[in-house]
Amino acid sequence: MKQKWRNERMKNRRKTERIILHHSLSGFGDVENIRRWHTMPPPAGHGWSDVGYHFVITRDGITQTGRDVRLVGAHAFGRNRDSIGVCLIGNFHKYEPTYEQVEAVTRLYHQLCRMYSKSLKLEFHRPHIFNLFEPNDYQIFNACTGSKMDRCDIREQCAKADPYGEVQT
Ligand SMILES: [Zn+2]
Repeated sequence: MKQKWRNERMKNRRKTERIILHHSLSGFGDVENIRRWHTMPPPAGHGWSDVGYHFVITRDGITQTGRDVRLVGAHAFGRNRDSIGVCLIGNFHKYEPTYEQVEAVTRLYHQLCRMYSKSLKLEFHRPHIFNLFEPNDYQIFNACTGSKMDRCDIREQCAKADPYGEVQT
């Protein structure tokens, strides 16, 4: 039964409207670290079929391929059906993404817009569920993508890289 559910998640995405950015909360690592964490059986991991993100961008700006970009990802509850998940390595509660990461996101954004022949929306992940009893704890451990990422100019850079010139900043 569980296997059936896992297989059902690995479906082709019918629509692609947006790119949702995440941070890893860790100061180091790459797609293989996250893949292990996502695929290990619970409680150590999520027990998924593959890493939930479609792309991971390392601290030095290398864009790594995660889950096949055509498939539905597992990165933003309730919003996976029409989005591509991109995770930047880092804890953006504490510091900003590196210059190389911003460059890499910009290039990836441009490529994906070209791939889907349209201007994709660019969003920062905002978890929908809050722990009402321990709001601060929840924020420390789960909030994505961190206030420092909002302040850097990813949105502005991507708007410039939009081949169709329609993305809103
Ligand atoms: Zn996230």
